Amino acid sequence: MAKRRLRELVIRREWCKGCGICVALCPKQVLELDGEDKSVPARPEDCICCRMCELRCPDLAITVLTDEEEGDGA
Ligand code: SF4
Ligand code: SF4
Repeated sequence: MAKRRLRELVIRREWCKGCGICVALCPKQVLELDGEDKSVPARPEDCICCRMCELRCPDLAITVLTDEEEGDGA
């Protein structure tokens, strides 16, 4: 079974409006708002790649890049 592993949490700071939706919805408390109210990956090692943040961000500011442990990787 293919398992997703986090490669990078890409957050476009210029698109983030600091609404905090991603922070509230992340089941693993990976994300936090910094001093400028921008989302940052505070604990990327805890990310389970559920993509909730990517799907729910109203400004499309987050992209979850993953590697498959199995699969063709294309
Ligand atoms: S949901 Fe999007 S806009 Fe809102 S804080 Fe998170 S990254 Fe920023
Ligand atoms: S992919 Fe899931 S676990 Fe990872 S930061 Fe986004 S909401 Fe949190």
